[in-house]
Formats: sequence, structure tokens, C-alpha cells
Amino acid sequence: MKPFMPDLVYFEPDALKYPLGQELHEKFSALGTPVKITPSHNRITDLPGSTELEKYRIAKRTLVVGIRKTLKFEPSKPSAEYAIPLATGCMGHCHYCYLQTTLGNRPYIRVYVNLEEIFAQAQKYIDERAPEITRFEAACTSDPVGIEHLTGSLKKAIEFIATQPLGRLRFVTKFAHVDSLLDADHRGHTRFRFSVNADYVINQMEPATSPLSDRIEAAKKVAAAGYPLGFIIAPIMIFDGWEEQYASLIRWLAEALPPDLPDLTFELITHRYTATAKRIIEERYPKTKLAMNEEERKKKWGRYGRVKYVYPDEPMREIKEKIPAWLKASFPNAEISYIT
Ligand code: SF4
Repeated sequence: MKPFMPDLVYFEPDALKYPLGQELHEKFSALGTPVKITPSHNRITDLPGSTELEKYRIAKRTLVVGIRKTLKFEPSKPSAEYAIPLATGCMGHCHYCYLQTTLGNRPYIRVYVNLEEIFAQAQKYIDERAPEITRFEAACTSDPVGIEHLTGSLKKAIEFIATQPLGRLRFVTKFAHVDSLLDADHRGHTRFRFSVNADYVINQMEPATSPLSDRIEAAKKVAAAGYPLGFIIAPIMIFDGWEEQYASLIRWLAEALPPDLPDLTFELITHRYTATAKRIIEERYPKTKLAMNEEERKKKWGRYGRVKYVYPDEPMREIKEKIPAWLKASFPNAEISYIT
């Protein structure tokens, strides 16, 4: 799979005052990509497309280069203290992606060029929490590896965090384009995680992301480059043959990775959805195989009285018993950070 190239690029005028903004402007002008100016990265009103669905598909191929004005970082529990905002939006088309609901009608890909200000803010958070370690998650609102070949921002963030004795960075990706990050001076402060899943889920529900075999090859390179490595298996789904497919995924990982990899983690998240997510997904991916049948789910009340549909107790118990057991058998020294 080739790295993403946008079909259309917008710039905020002030973004051109920053070196990365200028660099991107030169790059896309030279490539002949249509370039437009927008007063704000939050309000793109003239996207082409005659239907909502067409606009959505075009937005997913549109890059917006702007300045991150809100420098208050969102919390990112349980895996980090803060979300570090390098980008918002993603070119992937994972049917279940929570960005469908969180980004609403702004699914285009925003990248922020005021990196020095973003890093200065991260520094403040680190100083405030000293002597505790402060962890930043870079993939809360985007897949930062998928756009790294365009911006180089993730490498800068990795190298900034490397200079911070009390700072740590983490992110997760479904993209295999990791080569530019392999020689980053990371000093072990960045945990590089790959999102993996059963074949059925990847093949049916993750269009426009790297194939599993490429992600695993990329994970091998990342491990060889000395990064602490992790895998997120999510969303774990129940379908015909799920046990065999998740067991073979774990076997595949075990065969591919060096034995006794130090500092390897797994995070396990079962599938859940809200009524709003279901409505949006069915509009955007009308032929999806993503099973969202309330009769086969249990209601779980989250914050603000929001209802999520999770798997009922019995299948949930099976998932929570079997997948960690397979992982422990194949990776006795790895940490299972959480299963939810
Ligand atoms: S790669 Fe990640 S962020 Fe991008 S669409 Fe898929 S789930 Fe969403």
C-alpha cells in the first residue's frame, strides 16, 4: 500500500509563517496538488462533492494545514496523562472508528505546524507533574504514522520527548510506513504500538490501512530499532470462527517477533458502539459487515448517561479468558496492560 497523498490541500494563512507550513506549501505546489487558502482549519465549507457521502470520501483525502490554537491538552486515560495534538483526522476508512462520531462533519485531516508551541506546552505539563512521569498519547485524534511521510512531526515529537527525563510518548498505528522513524533518537521514551486484529476484521472493516502482514513487518523493524513495542488488539469482535482467527493472529505475531522481546505490551479492547455511532456508520458504510444488533448486546452506561452496547457477560467472559491465555502462552514475559 502506497503512503497517503491528499487530492486537495488547504492552508490557513498564518500556517505559512512556520517552516513546516512553508515546506508543505512548496511540496504540494511542486506536486501540482490543488492548494486553497482557508481562514480556519475548523471551518472548511467549500469541500467538493454533491452528496454527504461524496463529501465525506473527499474530506478523507483532504489535508488541512493549520495552527493549533487550543494548547490545553485533553486527558487521555488510561494509557497516558495527556493527548498531544499533532493532527486530527485520518485517511483510513475503518468502519468502527470512533473519529466518525468525535469529528462529526469535519472528517478532513488537519495537521498543525506550530510544533514548538505544542512542545513548549508539553514541557509545562511535564514540569507541573515532576517528579512523576508524564505520558503523552499522540494517536487520540488521528493516526500519526499515516501522515508522517508528509509532516515529519512525529519524529520531532519523539526526539523532543527523548530529551525529557520525565516525559514519555506513545501512539498506535495501522500503517506500516515507519522507515523515517527508525533512526529517530528515541532513547526508549516512546512506545510504538501497532493496532492488529483478526483477518476478518481487517479485510472487511479496515479499508485504506496497511495489510496485517505489512504492520507485522513494520513492528519487527521498530523492535530492531530499540523502541519499546506494543500491540493493541482492538476492536475484538465475535464472528464465526473468531477464536481460531484471534489464536492464529497471536501465533503469527509470536512467530514473527524475536523471542523474549523486552518491554512488550498488549492492550485489549472489545467492540462497543453507541446509537449515534451506529447511525453514522450505516450512513457512511451502508454495506458494512460490522455487527451492531442491540439484541445481541448488553447496555452499559458511560459518562454523561451515554449508553454503549457491549458484548453480554458470557461472550465477554470468553474473550477475557481466552485471548489473555493465548497471549500468555506465546508471550510469557509480555505485559497485558488492560482488557476492556
Ligand atoms: S486507522 Fe485508526 S484513526 Fe484511522 S480510520 Fe482507522 S481506526 Fe480511525
